[in-house]
Order: sequence, then C-alpha cells, then structure tokens
Amino acid sequence: MEKEKVIVIGSGPAGLTAALYTGRADLNPLVIAGDLLGGQISLTNEVENYPGFPEGLTGPELVELMRQQAERFGARIEYDMVTEVDFTRGSPFYVKTHQKEYEAEAVIVAVGASPRKLHVPGEDEFVGRGVSYCGTCDGFFFRGKEVVVVGGGDSALEEGIFLTKFATKVTIIHRRDQLRAGAALQKRAYNNEKIGFVWDTVVEAIEGDGVVQRVRLRNVKTDETSIMPTDGVFIFIGHDPNNALFKGQLEMNDAGYVVTDREMRTSAEGVFAAGEIQDHTFRQIATSVGQGCAAAMMCERWLAGREG
Ligand code: NAP
Repeated sequence: MEKEKVIVIGSGPAGLTAALYTGRADLNPLVIAGDLLGGQISLTNEVENYPGFPEGLTGPELVELMRQQAERFGARIEYDMVTEVDFTRGSPFYVKTHQKEYEAEAVIVAVGASPRKLHVPGEDEFVGRGVSYCGTCDGFFFRGKEVVVVGGGDSALEEGIFLTKFATKVTIIHRRDQLRAGAALQKRAYNNEKIGFVWDTVVEAIEGDGVVQRVRLRNVKTDETSIMPTDGVFIFIGHDPNNALFKGQLEMNDAGYVVTDREMRTSAEGVFAAGEIQDHTFRQIATSVGQGCAAAMMCERWLAGREG
C-alpha cells in the first residue's frame, strides 16, 4: 500500500489545476490520469474561449501546457485508471488502480463526464464504423462524404462546423425547432453552405451493411418516419458524469452529479470534487480550472487544519 498526502483522480483542466495548486502548496500530489490525459479537451480541436490565448490553441496543446506547469511544481502523474475507492471510513482513503493500491490523506475527484449515447439500435454496433462522438478524432475519415450530426447545443454546432472541413455535407438533426447553442455558433453554422438542418426530428436507428449507410428518422411533431442515407453519424447530445466509482460513497443529485458545497467539499470529509463530475451548469475549461483551484485550496486548508 503506497501512502500519499493528496491523490487527484482525473487529469482534465480541473484535475491538472488541482495538481498545480496542491503542488505549489508543497503537498506533492499524485495525479491518476485515467484513460486519456487531459480528458475531454484532448479531443477538442480548437479552444477559442480560454483566457490568455487570444489566437486560440488546440485542446492537446493546452493539456500539454497544463501538464508541464503542474509537474514543474512537483505533481506526479500516473498513467493508470482508478478501479475502486473506499471513502466510507474517513481519512486515510483507500484508492485502487489497475497497478497499485494507495492510502491518501485527502482526495480530489476530477473525473469529468462522458459523451451521452442515443441508445438506439445500431449505435454501439457501428462505433468506429461510422458512429462517432468526436469530430476532431474521426472527421478526417469522412473526407468527401456526407455525415449527420445529432444535437442542437454548442458541441453539435462547433463539431458540425469542424466537420465541414472534410465532409461535403453536414446535416444537423435536432429534436426541436430551436437550437440550444449560443448565438455566435448559430450564426457561423447558418452561414456555412455545407451545413443543413432537419428540425423536430430524432434518430430512431442507425443502419448499414458493415458500415453506416443510413439513419431512420422520426419527426416528433408529425410522427412521420423517413430514411436518410449517410456515411457517418456524429452524436453530440450532452454528457453524463463519470460517477460509477463513487455510487454509495459520495452524495449525488438526481442527475448523478456529485454534490459539493461552495468550497468544493463532498459529503465525505477530506474528499473534494471539481469540474464536470460536480458541475452540470457551466462545463467550460475556465470554470473547471476555477473549481480545481478552489478544491486544491480547500484541500490544503483541511489538511493543515488536521495537522495544526
Ligand atoms: P448541451 O448544451 O446539453 O446540448 C445537448 C443537445 O443535445 C441539446 O440540443 C439537446 O436538445 C440535445 N439532446 C439531448 N439529449 C438528446 C437525445 N436523447 N436525443 C436527441 N437530442 C438530444 O450539450 P453540449 O452541446 O455538449 O454542451 C455542453 C456544455 O458545454 C454547454 O454548457 C455548452 O455551452 C458547453 N460548450 C461550449 C462550447 C463553446 O463555448 N465553444 C463548445 C462546446 C460545448 P434540447 O436542446 O432539446 O435539450
């Protein structure tokens, strides 16, 4: 059993910021990175709204800068997955990964959220063969092809616009007749000649022979069904918190987000949470960074209070 002062679970903007701050507080944090260093921003092509970078930068570039900065102040990063935790008996907390077992005096949970699935026939079957949750990762494979994008939020429009670099046509299928996305993205999408919209419509099935060839659609107002030929289905319908490890251990709200107070404390004393695992509202890099900072500061104070 390895003993640690602070374990940060997750390595997105919240986790890497928590690592930077606990590192600068001389707490020698251990970050358990999960399956993708940087989390969701590693899959983001362009970050235009993170302050300090007026020209924007790519998600992987920002992750790399955050990693370097955290490590400069003593954070250590383990490229491993947490498989089990026990927060029920108080500090020190048990944390198990694929490779090791740890005891940590304090834990900062920053495991983020994952793309939501449509849960329609064909979705799982065609992942990697036409179904994707990441335009940045898979857009390249759709050069010269036609794709559909499901969703009406910022992600759907941002990724849909990105996909027009490769695809000849991008059809955005939205379940309502009004977009949820912000005005700036709406304007860019409406002005893009390659983008079309299908309103009030849901995807009921994804079909093909080995690869995606068509989607079955239903208009929710008229109940009319139709078939649309397509080479790819990109799904951007929101996210679900990655809460599986913490069920029964940390209080969660009805939507499954970990409940924190203003000081990022969870229901388990000594366990703090930051980023999308506890934030359904803002979900921005800038807000996750702020929450990671706050969680680290409160963690430091909590540890100091115990020792002092
Ligand atoms: P979101 O804002 O929750 O939007 C999800 C979209 O998917 C909504 O249009 C929703 O429809 C639709 N949807 C949900 N479940 C569905 C289902 N089962 N079938 C069909 N459609 C479904 O999620 P997001 O676009 O991923 O954005 C998440 C957060 O990140 C937001 O706060 C957003 O502002 C932020 N974000 C910001 C940027 C940026 O600033 N550049 C870029 C990406 C994301 P309804 O509209 O009918 O609910």
